[in-house]
Amino acid sequence: MKNQLLLIAGLFVAATLSAQDKPNFSSMEVNHIRVATPGLFSTGKSVFLNLDSLAEHEYAFPLPGAKVISAYGSRGGHSGADIKTCAKDTIRCAFDGVVRMAKPYSAYGNVVVVRHANGLETIYSHNLTNFVKSGDVIKAGEPIGLTGRTGRATTEHLHFETRINGQHFNPNLIFDLKEGTLRKECIKCTKNGKGVVVKTQAGKTKVDLAQQPGK
Ligand SMILES: [Zn+2]
Repeated sequence: MKNQLLLIAGLFVAATLSAQDKPNFSSMEVNHIRVATPGLFSTGKSVFLNLDSLAEHEYAFPLPGAKVISAYGSRGGHSGADIKTCAKDTIRCAFDGVVRMAKPYSAYGNVVVVRHANGLETIYSHNLTNFVKSGDVIKAGEPIGLTGRTGRATTEHLHFETRINGQHFNPNLIFDLKEGTLRKECIKCTKNGKGVVVKTQAGKTKVDLAQQPGK
């Protein structure tokens, strides 16, 4: 019995590692932005993003020096935040992860979707060019493309999204987008029906940044 349990635990660890190291994405995962993460809530109702335990080299602001030109939730439900520096500036991956999708995708233009630990996904859109492809294992700070205005965009900028289980939430919970700094806090993501409620644990960040379910 004990051996069986150990075997099961071992298989679980192997499955978790292989998802990170040798991605085997479905065609849905390679071709679409809004995709549920397989098995994300299989062991419990909540997953935690421990931003407070990340070392310096494990995160990077995607567009250093950028200013926010359109916040999350604006214009009737903006799915990300628009941040801007100049045309053809280098976009950097926010955390270590695996590129799930990199291609032109309707209004997003050239888009990159990166899957990180614990199901967090970051999305970089309207890029002039993408430097990465689906399946690439990348590190925080690695260049993934250049700012552009491909897709539906009126100026060169980065449309930056954060998602969990396919659902977008305010990226300002992860980064202080005005300051260009990581919020060193623990974020709790709780499954709620078809949606996910994303909240800061410690209460350092104001609650009004939280995602309204269903948007
Ligand atoms: Zn946008």
